[in-house]
Amino acid sequence: MKQQPRKKKFDNKIVAVISITLVFISTLINFILKNGLQKSGLVNRFSGTIFNQVRTLLILGAVIYCFLVIYILQSEREKEKELENIAFYDIVTGISNSLKFEKDAKEILKKNTTAKYAIIVLDIDKFAIINDVCGYKAGDKLLCDIAHTLKDIIQDKGIFARETADSFVVMIQWKKENDIINFINEFINYTHNINCSSILEKPSFSFGIYKVEDRTMNVRRMIDGANLALETAKEKCVNNYTFFNQKIRDKILWNKEIEDEMINAINQNEFLVYLQPKYRLSDNTISSAEALVRWKSHKLGMLFPDEFIPIFEKDCFIVELDFYVLEHVCKQLRIWIDKGLKPVPVAVNMSRKHLGRKNFVKNIYEIIKKYNISPSLIELEITETAVYNNMKVLSDFVDEFHKLGFKLSMDDFGSGYSSLNTLKCLDINILKLDREFFMSSSLKEQKRSEIVIKNIISMAKELNVTTVAEGVEIKQQVDYLKKIGCDTVQGYYFAKPMTIDNFEKLAYSI
Ligand code: C2E
Ligand code: MG
Ligand code: MG
Repeated sequence: MKQQPRKKKFDNKIVAVISITLVFISTLINFILKNGLQKSGLVNRFSGTIFNQVRTLLILGAVIYCFLVIYILQSEREKEKELENIAFYDIVTGISNSLKFEKDAKEILKKNTTAKYAIIVLDIDKFAIINDVCGYKAGDKLLCDIAHTLKDIIQDKGIFARETADSFVVMIQWKKENDIINFINEFINYTHNINCSSILEKPSFSFGIYKVEDRTMNVRRMIDGANLALETAKEKCVNNYTFFNQKIRDKILWNKEIEDEMINAINQNEFLVYLQPKYRLSDNTISSAEALVRWKSHKLGMLFPDEFIPIFEKDCFIVELDFYVLEHVCKQLRIWIDKGLKPVPVAVNMSRKHLGRKNFVKNIYEIIKKYNISPSLIELEITETAVYNNMKVLSDFVDEFHKLGFKLSMDDFGSGYSSLNTLKCLDINILKLDREFFMSSSLKEQKRSEIVIKNIISMAKELNVTTVAEGVEIKQQVDYLKKIGCDTVQGYYFAKPMTIDNFEKLAYSI
């Protein structure tokens, strides 16, 4: 794309030179005809008329040619502009894209060597949900409103562009750190006037800030720094900002260590499968278990899923790990069956990253067949947040899994934004109430939670869906769940996740 306009410029120059030459030649001929030949008497009156006609034709030709050249130059310029628009501007909002931003930022930093600059990446929280719930038109309108807001606030005091689908990048000058914070606050205040939908009234944002220190550094790397700070901001509450700092730099190094270790870890069998039993509330016996992975790294120590799964999800290594856990579970089920023990159905967590893969069902089926395990002994847990933008894909997978005899479980139910829709559209077998329902901060909130739980359980019953309450830690919760007809409980009240050896002791007394 960069090459094309340069070639066009070269063509234009040739056309311009040819046209100037032609105009010059025609003027010269005209001059010779008028002043030279006629005056010298070398031509008679008759041939003079012919010369006059030739002269007029030449002038006419030259004029038409000039117009043609101007027309060609004009349309070439328009084409060039169009190409530039495609290369440098965002189609939805009409503002610069990140390529143009990088180019402009580089120039500004080169020209203004004394001023201090900051690069801010601002990201719309839950943009996928806005698109999903309110439609793409509403999403596009929100993007345009944000672009207008940035234009109004920044004017000519800085530059801004759309960075990715739901993020914008800004470069502003600052003297005191407060200047940057004031800019963010002004932006948030402005956006209070934007109504993105009837469901989510005010959009909220997260901001990652990178203060430019080394001006010779590639602008892309500065934006990356702001993006890393943004990740930390996103972990906090809404409308939060984070400056890129040493801690973030350390986090990147830590993530890198995890990435460097993960492939080896799977080959070295460093991933351990723990089982957490689920208890039937009707008789307080074990009904099934959930497989939860732990990483006993020889280099990094014992790690819990929350520390490494988000990193694995970034490069889809999680897909491999999930299959590893499933294979481990199948191996264990085969051992129990071969020992003549009644196998306990086991739930295996499946990341949303599987949803884009064609062979998802086939791969799972191949693993269970390898150990000759009945699909009815495997529950596939998919977290509710995986539903966004994936409802159709997910519902097709659910049907395929059902045909093969697997059970499908909706994990962390109630943590998303379209739980009722999920319940309506997906033919799931098990519903796991999110742990958050049992973490109320006040008595009032607890009472409201209880009403919600009671009604979810009653809905699930009518839909013939088994209910599991997660994160149950105290007796009062168990008693209440029993009273309202919840089927199963998984929580520290009964048992924590444990090694397979300990699970065998508990479940089979061996
Ligand atoms: P999850 O699937 O919702 O698993 C339940 C989590 O809640 C487990 O955390 C479990 O230890 C914890 N938990 C259970 N009962 C209680 C309780 O009474 N109180 C409290 N405070 N916590 C309780 P864990 O093992 O750290 O796993 C966290 C998450 O990591 C899991 O949430 C799951 O989303 C993910 N995960 C774990 N193993 C795998 C895996 O093999 N594959 C994938 N894709 N994700 C996994
Ligand atoms: Mg789970
Ligand atoms: Mg859960």
